Amino acid sequence: MELHRAVALVTGGGRGIGEAIARRLSAAGLHVVVSGRDVAALDAVASDIAGVAIPADLSDRSAAEVLVRTVEREVGPIAVLVNNAGLAESAPLARTDDAIWDRTMALNVTAAFSLCRALMPEMARRGPGRVVNIASNAGLRGYAYTSAYCASKHALVGLTRALAVEFARTGVTVNAVCPGFVDTAMSERAAGNIARATGRDGREALAALSPQKRMMTPEEVAHVVWSFLPHEARGITGQCIALDGGQSA
Ligand code: NAP
Repeated sequence: MELHRAVALVTGGGRGIGEAIARRLSAAGLHVVVSGRDVAALDAVASDIAGVAIPADLSDRSAAEVLVRTVEREVGPIAVLVNNAGLAESAPLARTDDAIWDRTMALNVTAAFSLCRALMPEMARRGPGRVVNIASNAGLRGYAYTSAYCASKHALVGLTRALAVEFARTGVTVNAVCPGFVDTAMSERAAGNIARATGRDGREALAALSPQKRMMTPEEVAHVVWSFLPHEARGITGQCIALDGGQSA
Protein backbone atom coordinates (compact mmCIF):
# COMPACT_ATOMS: atom_id res chain seq x y z
CA MET A 1 0.00 0.00 0.00
CA GLU A 2 1.03 3.61 -0.55
CA LEU A 3 2.39 4.88 2.75
CA HIS A 4 3.04 8.51 1.84
CA ARG A 5 0.47 10.68 3.71
CA ALA A 6 -1.67 7.61 4.51
CA VAL A 7 -3.56 8.27 7.75
CA ALA A 8 -2.49 6.13 10.72
CA LEU A 9 -4.36 6.09 14.04
CA VAL A 10 -2.19 5.08 17.02
CA THR A 11 -4.02 4.57 20.31
CA GLY A 12 -2.00 5.34 23.42
CA GLY A 13 0.24 7.41 21.15
CA GLY A 14 1.23 10.01 23.76
CA ARG A 15 3.93 8.00 25.51
CA GLY A 16 5.83 4.73 25.74
CA ILE A 17 5.50 2.25 22.91
CA GLY A 18 2.68 4.18 21.23
CA GLU A 19 4.79 7.33 21.07
CA ALA A 20 7.66 5.41 19.44
CA ILE A 21 5.22 3.92 16.91
CA ALA A 22 3.78 7.35 16.12
CA ARG A 23 7.28 8.78 15.56
CA ARG A 24 8.35 5.81 13.41
CA LEU A 25 5.26 5.94 11.19
CA SER A 26 5.58 9.70 10.81
CA ALA A 27 9.24 9.29 9.79
CA ALA A 28 8.03 6.79 7.17
CA GLY A 29 5.80 9.49 5.65
CA LEU A 30 2.43 8.65 7.18
CA HIS A 31 0.07 11.28 8.59
CA VAL A 32 -0.29 10.17 12.20
CA VAL A 33 -3.18 10.70 14.62
CA VAL A 34 -2.34 9.99 18.25
CA SER A 35 -5.08 9.22 20.75
CA GLY A 36 -5.22 8.68 24.52
CA ARG A 37 -6.43 10.53 27.63
CA ASP A 38 -3.46 12.77 28.44
CA VAL A 39 -4.06 15.80 26.23
CA ALA A 40 -0.75 17.52 27.03
CA ALA A 41 1.27 14.39 26.15
CA LEU A 42 -0.70 13.88 22.93
CA ASP A 43 -0.27 17.52 21.91
CA ALA A 44 3.49 17.37 22.53
CA VAL A 45 3.94 14.29 20.32
CA ALA A 46 1.57 15.55 17.63
CA SER A 47 3.30 18.90 17.36
CA ASP A 48 6.71 17.20 17.10
CA ILE A 49 5.64 14.97 14.21
CA ALA A 50 3.25 17.37 12.45
CA GLY A 51 0.46 14.97 13.37
CA VAL A 52 -2.94 15.36 15.00
CA ALA A 53 -3.99 14.71 18.61
CA ILE A 54 -7.52 13.45 19.23
CA PRO A 55 -8.21 12.56 22.88
CA ALA A 56 -10.38 9.57 23.79
CA ASP A 57 -10.88 7.42 26.87
CA LEU A 58 -11.14 3.98 25.30
CA SER A 59 -12.32 2.32 28.49
CA ASP A 60 -15.66 3.94 27.63
CA ARG A 61 -17.47 1.50 25.33
CA SER A 62 -18.86 4.14 23.02
CA ALA A 63 -15.54 5.97 22.54
CA ALA A 64 -14.13 3.77 19.76
CA GLU A 65 -16.90 4.45 17.27
CA VAL A 66 -16.76 8.19 18.03
CA LEU A 67 -12.96 8.22 17.64
CA VAL A 68 -13.03 6.53 14.24
CA ARG A 69 -15.74 8.87 12.94
CA THR A 70 -13.91 11.94 14.30
CA VAL A 71 -10.58 10.97 12.71
CA GLU A 72 -12.20 10.21 9.36
CA ARG A 73 -14.16 13.48 9.38
CA GLU A 74 -11.34 15.75 10.59
CA VAL A 75 -8.23 14.08 9.14
CA GLY A 76 -9.17 11.56 6.45
CA PRO A 77 -9.77 7.86 5.77
CA ILE A 78 -7.77 5.70 8.16
CA ALA A 79 -5.43 3.31 6.33
CA VAL A 80 -3.50 2.04 9.36
CA LEU A 81 -4.91 1.29 12.82
CA VAL A 82 -2.51 0.50 15.65
CA ASN A 83 -4.29 -0.81 18.75
CA ASN A 84 -1.61 -0.02 21.31
CA ALA A 85 -3.43 1.46 24.34
CA GLY A 86 -3.31 -1.02 27.18
CA LEU A 87 -2.93 -1.47 30.90
CA ALA A 88 -1.29 -4.12 33.07
CA GLU A 89 -2.04 -4.81 36.71
CA SER A 90 -0.58 -7.70 38.60
CA ALA A 91 -2.19 -9.54 41.50
CA PRO A 92 -2.59 -13.14 42.61
CA LEU A 93 -5.86 -14.69 41.46
CA ALA A 94 -7.61 -14.26 44.82
CA ARG A 95 -6.89 -10.52 44.77
CA THR A 96 -7.81 -10.06 41.09
CA ASP A 97 -11.17 -8.46 41.76
CA ASP A 98 -13.92 -7.79 39.23
CA ALA A 99 -12.78 -4.20 38.81
CA ILE A 100 -9.27 -5.26 37.71
CA TRP A 101 -10.71 -7.88 35.36
CA ASP A 102 -13.28 -5.47 33.87
CA ARG A 103 -10.95 -2.54 33.25
CA THR A 104 -8.26 -4.82 31.78
CA MET A 105 -10.70 -6.46 29.38
CA ALA A 106 -12.36 -3.13 28.52
CA LEU A 107 -9.15 -1.48 27.36
CA ASN A 108 -6.96 -4.37 26.19
CA VAL A 109 -9.63 -6.31 24.27
CA THR A 110 -12.99 -4.56 23.93
CA ALA A 111 -11.52 -1.24 22.76
CA ALA A 112 -9.48 -3.00 20.05
CA PHE A 113 -12.53 -5.04 18.99
CA SER A 114 -14.73 -1.92 18.89
CA LEU A 115 -12.19 0.09 16.88
CA CYS A 116 -11.84 -2.79 14.39
CA ARG A 117 -15.61 -3.13 14.07
CA ALA A 118 -16.07 0.60 13.56
CA LEU A 119 -13.34 0.80 10.93
CA MET A 120 -12.56 -2.44 9.13
CA PRO A 121 -15.64 -2.95 6.93
CA GLU A 122 -15.17 0.55 5.45
CA MET A 123 -11.37 0.14 5.30
CA ALA A 124 -11.88 -3.08 3.33
CA ARG A 125 -14.23 -1.36 0.86
CA ARG A 126 -11.65 1.37 0.24
CA GLY A 127 -8.73 -0.93 -0.55
CA PRO A 128 -5.54 -1.96 1.17
CA GLY A 129 -5.34 -1.35 4.90
CA ARG A 130 -3.38 -2.46 7.93
CA VAL A 131 -4.36 -3.28 11.49
CA VAL A 132 -1.59 -3.92 14.01
CA ASN A 133 -2.40 -4.97 17.56
CA ILE A 134 0.16 -4.55 20.31
CA ALA A 135 -0.41 -7.75 22.25
CA SER A 136 2.33 -9.25 24.44
CA ASN A 137 4.46 -12.25 25.12
CA ALA A 138 1.72 -12.75 27.74
CA GLY A 139 -0.63 -13.39 24.79
CA LEU A 140 1.44 -16.43 23.84
CA ARG A 141 2.17 -18.02 27.22
CA GLY A 142 1.12 -17.75 30.84
CA TYR A 143 2.72 -15.76 33.65
CA ALA A 144 1.88 -15.94 37.35
CA TYR A 145 0.01 -13.06 39.04
CA THR A 146 -1.26 -11.60 35.76
CA SER A 147 -4.37 -13.65 34.99
CA ALA A 148 -6.44 -10.69 33.73
CA TYR A 149 -3.59 -9.30 31.62
CA CYS A 150 -2.65 -12.72 30.18
CA ALA A 151 -6.29 -13.49 29.38
CA SER A 152 -6.74 -10.11 27.70
CA LYS A 153 -3.62 -10.47 25.55
CA HIS A 154 -4.53 -14.06 24.56
CA ALA A 155 -7.91 -12.66 23.51
CA LEU A 156 -6.20 -9.95 21.46
CA VAL A 157 -4.10 -12.62 19.72
CA GLY A 158 -7.30 -14.56 18.98
CA LEU A 159 -8.99 -11.43 17.64
CA THR A 160 -5.96 -10.81 15.40
CA ARG A 161 -6.08 -14.30 13.91
CA ALA A 162 -9.86 -14.35 13.43
CA LEU A 163 -10.00 -10.95 11.69
CA ALA A 164 -6.98 -11.79 9.53
CA VAL A 165 -8.85 -14.79 8.12
CA GLU A 166 -12.18 -12.94 7.84
CA PHE A 167 -10.61 -10.06 5.87
CA ALA A 168 -8.01 -12.08 3.95
CA ARG A 169 -9.57 -11.41 0.53
CA THR A 170 -9.96 -7.67 1.05
CA GLY A 171 -6.40 -6.31 1.08
CA VAL A 172 -6.59 -5.54 4.79
CA THR A 173 -4.02 -7.38 6.89
CA VAL A 174 -4.23 -7.89 10.65
CA ASN A 175 -1.13 -8.71 12.65
CA ALA A 176 0.14 -8.42 16.21
CA VAL A 177 3.42 -7.69 17.94
CA CYS A 178 4.00 -9.70 21.11
CA PRO A 179 6.79 -7.98 23.03
CA GLY A 180 8.50 -9.25 26.13
CA PHE A 181 9.29 -6.57 28.70
CA VAL A 182 9.83 -3.20 27.02
CA ASP A 183 11.55 -0.31 28.77
CA THR A 184 8.55 1.97 29.49
CA ALA A 185 6.56 3.23 32.47
CA MET A 186 4.57 -0.03 32.41
CA SER A 187 7.62 -2.22 33.02
CA GLU A 188 8.99 0.34 35.51
CA ARG A 189 5.86 -0.35 37.60
CA ALA A 190 6.40 -4.12 37.24
CA ALA A 191 10.04 -3.69 38.30
CA GLY A 192 8.90 -1.71 41.36
CA ASN A 193 6.48 -4.49 42.34
CA ILE A 194 9.23 -7.11 42.06
CA ALA A 195 11.64 -4.98 44.10
CA ARG A 196 9.05 -4.47 46.86
CA ALA A 197 8.07 -8.15 46.95
CA THR A 198 11.52 -9.72 46.71
CA GLY A 199 14.12 -7.07 47.51
CA ARG A 200 15.77 -7.82 44.17
CA ASP A 201 16.63 -5.24 41.50
CA GLY A 202 13.35 -5.29 39.56
CA ARG A 203 14.77 -4.07 36.26
CA GLU A 204 17.50 -6.71 36.36
CA ALA A 205 14.91 -9.39 37.16
CA LEU A 206 12.81 -8.39 34.14
CA ALA A 207 15.83 -8.25 31.84
CA ALA A 208 16.91 -11.69 33.07
CA LEU A 209 13.69 -13.23 31.71
CA SER A 210 14.95 -12.77 28.17
CA PRO A 211 17.79 -14.94 26.81
CA GLN A 212 19.27 -11.66 25.52
CA LYS A 213 19.30 -10.45 29.16
CA ARG A 214 17.78 -7.10 28.34
CA MET A 215 14.44 -5.38 27.97
CA MET A 216 13.28 -4.51 24.47
CA THR A 217 13.06 -0.85 23.44
CA PRO A 218 9.89 0.94 22.23
CA GLU A 219 11.71 1.66 18.96
CA GLU A 220 12.11 -2.09 18.30
CA VAL A 221 8.34 -2.54 18.65
CA ALA A 222 7.80 0.40 16.31
CA HIS A 223 10.10 -1.18 13.74
CA VAL A 224 8.04 -4.39 13.67
CA VAL A 225 4.83 -2.37 13.32
CA TRP A 226 6.31 -0.49 10.37
CA SER A 227 7.45 -3.76 8.75
CA PHE A 228 3.81 -4.88 8.35
CA LEU A 229 2.85 -1.81 6.32
CA PRO A 230 4.50 -1.87 2.87
CA HIS A 231 2.90 -3.46 -0.18
CA GLU A 232 5.60 -6.15 -0.06
CA ALA A 233 4.23 -7.26 3.34
CA ARG A 234 0.69 -7.85 2.04
CA GLY A 235 1.05 -11.63 2.39
CA ILE A 236 1.76 -11.37 6.11
CA THR A 237 -1.52 -11.57 8.01
CA GLY A 238 -2.71 -13.26 11.18
CA GLN A 239 0.84 -13.31 12.52
CA CYS A 240 1.66 -12.59 16.14
CA ILE A 241 5.34 -11.80 16.15
CA ALA A 242 7.24 -12.32 19.38
CA LEU A 243 9.75 -9.55 20.08
CA ASP A 244 11.34 -10.80 23.25
CA GLY A 245 15.00 -11.63 22.75
CA GLY A 246 14.13 -15.32 22.49
CA GLN A 247 12.00 -15.54 25.66
CA SER A 248 9.17 -17.42 23.94
CA ALA A 249 11.57 -19.69 22.05
P1 NAP B 1 2.37 2.71 29.16
O1 NAP B 1 3.64 3.47 29.13
O2 NAP B 1 1.72 2.43 30.47
O3 NAP B 1 1.33 3.43 28.17
C1 NAP B 1 0.01 2.99 28.08
C2 NAP B 1 -0.66 3.77 26.98
O4 NAP B 1 -2.05 3.42 26.93
C3 NAP B 1 -0.57 5.28 27.21
O5 NAP B 1 -0.31 5.94 26.00
C4 NAP B 1 -1.96 5.62 27.72
O6 NAP B 1 -2.30 6.94 27.33
C5 NAP B 1 -2.83 4.61 27.00
N1 NAP B 1 -4.06 4.38 27.75
C6 NAP B 1 -4.17 3.89 29.01
N2 NAP B 1 -5.46 3.89 29.40
C7 NAP B 1 -6.18 4.39 28.35
C8 NAP B 1 -7.56 4.65 28.14
N3 NAP B 1 -8.48 4.37 29.09
N4 NAP B 1 -7.95 5.18 26.95
C9 NAP B 1 -7.02 5.47 25.99
N5 NAP B 1 -5.70 5.24 26.14
C10 NAP B 1 -5.28 4.71 27.30
O7 NAP B 1 2.55 1.29 28.46
P2 NAP B 1 3.46 0.80 27.25
O8 NAP B 1 4.55 0.00 27.83
O9 NAP B 1 3.76 1.89 26.30
O10 NAP B 1 2.41 -0.24 26.61
C11 NAP B 1 1.77 -0.04 25.37
C12 NAP B 1 1.16 -1.37 24.93
O11 NAP B 1 2.19 -2.36 24.84
C13 NAP B 1 0.13 -1.94 25.90
O12 NAP B 1 -0.94 -2.52 25.20
C14 NAP B 1 0.91 -3.01 26.65
O13 NAP B 1 0.09 -4.02 27.16
C15 NAP B 1 1.83 -3.50 25.56
N6 NAP B 1 3.02 -4.18 26.06
C16 NAP B 1 3.88 -3.52 26.90
C17 NAP B 1 5.00 -4.20 27.38
C18 NAP B 1 5.99 -3.55 28.32
O14 NAP B 1 6.82 -4.27 28.90
N7 NAP B 1 5.98 -2.23 28.48
C19 NAP B 1 5.24 -5.53 27.00
C20 NAP B 1 4.34 -6.15 26.14
C21 NAP B 1 3.24 -5.47 25.68
P3 NAP B 1 -3.04 7.98 28.34
O15 NAP B 1 -2.41 7.85 29.67
O16 NAP B 1 -2.84 9.28 27.63
O17 NAP B 1 -4.48 7.58 28.32
